[in-house]
Amino acid sequence: MADSVMPAAFIGHGSPMNALDHNRYTAAWAAFGASVPRPRAILAISAHWYINASAVTGMPRPKTIHDFYGFPEALFAVEYPAPGDPDLAAEVTEIAKPTWVGLDLDSWGIDHGSWSVLVHMFPEADIPVVQLSINAAKPFDYHVGLAAQLHQLRERGVLIVGSGNVVHNLSRMQWNEPDAGFDWARSFDEAAVQVMTSSPGDVVDLQGHGAFGLAAPTPDHFIPLLYLAGLAAAVARPAQVLVDGCAMGSLSMTSYTLDARCDVDTTAGSGAPAVPDVPADETNM
Ligand code: ZN
Repeated sequence: MADSVMPAAFIGHGSPMNALDHNRYTAAWAAFGASVPRPRAILAISAHWYINASAVTGMPRPKTIHDFYGFPEALFAVEYPAPGDPDLAAEVTEIAKPTWVGLDLDSWGIDHGSWSVLVHMFPEADIPVVQLSINAAKPFDYHVGLAAQLHQLRERGVLIVGSGNVVHNLSRMQWNEPDAGFDWARSFDEAAVQVMTSSPGDVVDLQGHGAFGLAAPTPDHFIPLLYLAGLAAAVARPAQVLVDGCAMGSLSMTSYTLDARCDVDTTAGSGAPAVPDVPADETNM
């Protein structure tokens, strides 16, 4: 029953500068946030908590983590003071069994993969946020399967949001081309749209796409997509494209929703996403 579950999303977050910008992507994130029933809490799976372990933030007051360098001071001044939700963290550790999920009480918090999106989606920062790490030691199938286990949280009012980028190749970035995509980037992004909107359970097959190595030279930004795919497969419904496009040649800004009713005004703000004003090899977005 699509009506009884909280929607879910995968957001292509791009540059951290999108936290401060207003463009057609950030307008779509805001429209999605405004369209969902008020969540009990948010479970975020961010590309930027990519570690060799499964862990969940369990602190009542997670700190805002500025996990980047080479960006303006204004970005380091952003705070996202949402509370944590130790009860939700405990639920996640229970649901993930037999996988052991460590309870993180003092190392992580809310990283920019989460807050650069949440400042637009829920600007009041009054909905509790818990982050689930991406276990880098696990194969893609594991993440799809874990997502299916997490489905039950959607029936308990939890908004699950993956945050990464379907195409994310910083070494190829053309940072003077804010609104462009290489042919290979657009080809891979279109292949991802095809699978997510028709048979999301087949998402791991994207590894066989000819451009996979260029699109995801490291898998950290790709894996959050697997979580929305697993949630979609669990209910046998396809995802929908929330907003799509490429940026700086080798980034896809395409975002997806599941079970959402969200009208996006794509004319809001300027079209192009925010770009860093430093060379790609000096950033870690
Ligand atoms: Zn990122």
